[in-house]
Amino acid sequence: MTVSRRGVLRGAAVAAVGAAGTAAGVRAATADEPAAATQREPVELTWWGNHAWQIRSGESVVLTDPWLTRFVTGTYTPEGADETTRIVSKPSVIDKYVTKADAILVHHGHYDHLPDVPYVARRTKATVLGNETHLNLLRAMRAPGDQLTQVVGGEYLPFKGFTVEVFRSLHSCGGERHQFAFPGTRPAVVPPKPRTIADLVEGGTLAYVLTIGGLRILSLSTAGFDPVALKDLEVDVVLAAPGGEPGVTDRLLKTIKPVPLVIATHWDDFDKPLDEPAEDWGGLAKLQASVLATGAEFRKVEHLESITL
Ligand SMILES: [Zn+2]
Repeated sequence: MTVSRRGVLRGAAVAAVGAAGTAAGVRAATADEPAAATQREPVELTWWGNHAWQIRSGESVVLTDPWLTRFVTGTYTPEGADETTRIVSKPSVIDKYVTKADAILVHHGHYDHLPDVPYVARRTKATVLGNETHLNLLRAMRAPGDQLTQVVGGEYLPFKGFTVEVFRSLHSCGGERHQFAFPGTRPAVVPPKPRTIADLVEGGTLAYVLTIGGLRILSLSTAGFDPVALKDLEVDVVLAAPGGEPGVTDRLLKTIKPVPLVIATHWDDFDKPLDEPAEDWGGLAKLQASVLATGAEFRKVEHLESITL
């Protein structure tokens, strides 16, 4: 397509609500639907490495898996992650970046997603969405209990300024036995306080569609996905992670309706500092090829870079 990205996105946003756009690209709301559901406003996405995104439109701010402390784990070395690595969360690092949040979307329980959520939640008073295991792990790490909202997939949750749809998802896996690190769940009771990265089990994986500023963003924290949950989903943007089983991203992009823009997530070696340029752990080229093969635009942003859509 030769139209600008703005045009593509605007067209997709209009298509997503099922009607032709006006000259301004914004469809007038009819009497029985709220104007907020159809108007396009600028949406700013800022990447804090791994799957930590700040997504802002107007006064609304939503964070995905806000993990900013980053400690050395060995994850992307030939030896793999040292499972005795202690979990640390550093307010002095987090405070440099996190200023405000209305909601925090927890995608799974692993050490590169969860450890900073308790502090960020306490500081921002944001509502934290996660499944039973994620929330039990967060309780064990002293997250504020009254801000935790349990979800399983299937929810449609309107907030002031944005909506969140929750979907069942799957963690990516690999190798001859199709495994991933630290599987397991922590249902029913709050476990002992997690001390090492092995204590933060995956706990099930969720995907989210955030609709903010009229833009529909599918947020995936790993290359895995549930093909039943996402069948024929219509969104404007996908945050997609490299890795996983061969062809998994090709299958994802065939499962959902054609999407105009895919932004790479979780592609950096998170043992390296956030305030230096992101280092590709080796999955980016394959992800890009899968995206470009569908005719979608592929973008990667740098550590701490913001883009406005
Ligand atoms: Zn993970």
